[in-house]
Amino acid sequence: MSKILVTKPFQAPFEEITAEMQRAWDAQWLTNNGPLLKEFEAGLNAYLGTKDCAVVSNGTVAIQVALQALGIKGEVITTPFSYVATTSTIVWEGCTPVFVDIDAKTFNIDPVQIESAITEKTSAILATHVFGVPCDVEAIERIAKTHNLKVIYDAAHCFGTKINGVSVLNYGDLSTLSLHATKLMHSVEGGAIFVNDSSSKVEGLTEPVSPLRYTVNRLRNFGHFGPEVFDGVGINAKNSEIHAAIGLVNLRYADEIMTDRERQHERYDQGLETLALTKPEIAENVDWNKSYYPVVFKSQEEALHVLDGLEACRIYARRYFYPALNTLPYIVRPGKTPNAATISTSILCLPLYFGLEDEKITRVIEEVVRLCNEFRS
Ligand SMILES: *Cc1c(COP(=O)(O)O)cnc(C)c1O
Repeated sequence: MSKILVTKPFQAPFEEITAEMQRAWDAQWLTNNGPLLKEFEAGLNAYLGTKDCAVVSNGTVAIQVALQALGIKGEVITTPFSYVATTSTIVWEGCTPVFVDIDAKTFNIDPVQIESAITEKTSAILATHVFGVPCDVEAIERIAKTHNLKVIYDAAHCFGTKINGVSVLNYGDLSTLSLHATKLMHSVEGGAIFVNDSSSKVEGLTEPVSPLRYTVNRLRNFGHFGPEVFDGVGINAKNSEIHAAIGLVNLRYADEIMTDRERQHERYDQGLETLALTKPEIAENVDWNKSYYPVVFKSQEEALHVLDGLEACRIYARRYFYPALNTLPYIVRPGKTPNAATISTSILCLPLYFGLEDEKITRVIEEVVRLCNEFRS
């Protein structure tokens, strides 16, 4: 039996990749916010329906730059159910993560619990739209306005997800996307910061941009404001023309990638129906990108029985996301998050990637059903 991996990177035809890279090679311009990178940014905005997107070197530094750009200090209210980068970036930037529980229906931060966690030290909410399923963005926006807090969304999984036909990346002060090879859309390594600043453009720049976009541009490029002038501390969060070339090619396949996810989800949904596993609830007004196939089992024991049993058949599911982030060894204020504890211990993501064959999905379904029934009987 051949291996079935939880994910595989999307790989466009190599000739297309080399043709696009050739442009950078011929121009002898390989990095430093070159023409391909700008095209990639414009391409992302055009495909997603977003306004202003700054491509950076990865989705983790995107969060770090976002925290810096908004001047976040002190306490940041955040979710315990996400990838480690959501929490590690807060700590790395010298802020304190304050965890509140997730909603058991969406697996996202529960807005009802945000308010009671606010203190005079709170400066921001950093929430993840986990698996590409949107948070309750309206409730979060209301709370942020009332308490004068900034909102950053870790929208790493959100390429293509829409609320009322509008990209979820248009919410929050800043939203960050990951373009890592394992994500639905990628540039091998890469990330992007979506800037939602409608205030007037900064005067005196070669390309007029909003004040917040100007800050992001400065931060990702060492603080440069012209060749010899530095406007504050910056970091190197730039991405290269070579990564942009791959991103540009992959963008051509975005529709195909999204449609293929529909096929795979439908097959899994049908095949696993009898097990009555819990899946994230998708609101009526949401177009979900179906970037992952998460299922919550009845208990941790059941989930681990399935995980181990699948591995014995060379099928590699993953415990996304385990452990809950408030149990990381460097967390001093874990808080109480029972929903996150239950879900993080009993969830598995099943194999899902572009081109995963129907026969392989059927094999996964058959084994999950067999193992689950074996455990339950
Ligand atoms: C992948 C991921 C990141 C980090 O993105 P990189 O591009 O790998 O740095 C951050 N948050 C979440 C939720 C992710 O899944």
